[in-house]
Amino acid sequence: DLYNKVLELKGNIRVFCRCRPLNNEEIAEGAIMGIGFESAKDGELTVKGNGASKKFKFDSVFTPQANQADVFEDTAPFATSVLDGYNVCIFAYGQTGSGKTFTMEGTEEARGVNYRTLEELFRIMKDRKGIFRYEISVSVLEVYNEQIRDLLVPVSQTGVTQKRLEIRQVAEGIHHVPGLVEAHVNNMNEVWEVLQMGSSARAVGSTNVNEHSSRSHCIHCVMVKGENLINREYTRSKLWLVDLAGSERIAKTDVQGERLKETQNINRSLSALGDVISALATKSPHIPFRNSKLTHLLQDSLGGDSKSLMFVQISPNENDLSETLCSLNFASRVR
Ligand code: ADP
Ligand code: MG
Repeated sequence: DLYNKVLELKGNIRVFCRCRPLNNEEIAEGAIMGIGFESAKDGELTVKGNGASKKFKFDSVFTPQANQADVFEDTAPFATSVLDGYNVCIFAYGQTGSGKTFTMEGTEEARGVNYRTLEELFRIMKDRKGIFRYEISVSVLEVYNEQIRDLLVPVSQTGVTQKRLEIRQVAEGIHHVPGLVEAHVNNMNEVWEVLQMGSSARAVGSTNVNEHSSRSHCIHCVMVKGENLINREYTRSKLWLVDLAGSERIAKTDVQGERLKETQNINRSLSALGDVISALATKSPHIPFRNSKLTHLLQDSLGGDSKSLMFVQISPNENDLSETLCSLNFASRVR
């Protein structure tokens, strides 16, 4: 179909850039917009600062006025791909406070990509009823300090630590995390329950929830088993929805001990992700999947005929321009 042709032409990664609105505090302080959206419809934005300006081009650009439904309109085709048997990864990248969680998780009133993608899966499944039969399950996990934590395992308030989860290769091209909970979901009420359970588990055991979530990768994995009822063919595919750790550069001189280790782990895994995606894009013979837990975990769903979407989230505030430029440069490298 046309959409798949477009994806093929551009390679298997698409990059959408989304800019959040200035918040009330910034408006009260008289913050200046550092981004121009004159040609946002053509996928372009301009970074303006210090009298100079630089243009960037992406597959889509979402201005601060774009709502969750606008963003999902361009994201929905990825849901179709998953039911067609493709592996799909959707990432949100950017500095803390740029809207990664707003885009992926959203709020109860303005639901994000995670919820909407699952809703779209159930909608298409209903359309294909009688021709295909599907089974869907969801895992929710977190990668923090290069360790995997299962967010669907209830943690007792007394803080009993879970057993360590590891990634195993179970067959050629098939990686698996033994012991990870896979919650079977039959409808959107069950999906909502699972998503809520995952979010609340993130808070357990951390003194500052926001700080913790900006230093860990929050990952939803949707596993789809499909059966074509006419020719009895089976498909198995995975959809990864990843709210990445904050990309802000933290000077190593500013932190020590546990924080330093955390910072190094975040930097390592985000640069490993960039390295893997650009190695795939340039068809390099060696793809360095093993350099981080994140890329190792997603290995089967990056490259090959899988499809990826990266949301680069940015702040409009002129004060954030240096981080914004870093994020835009990262995104331009993977595209
Ligand atoms: P991050 O996850 O990147 O740290 P958040 O998603 O938590 O950032 O966003 C920071 C704040 O900005 C939150 O209060 C969020 O609701 C708000 N926000 C982010 N993006 C938007 C948007 N597009 N429209 C309205 N509010 C937004
Ligand atoms: Mg967040």
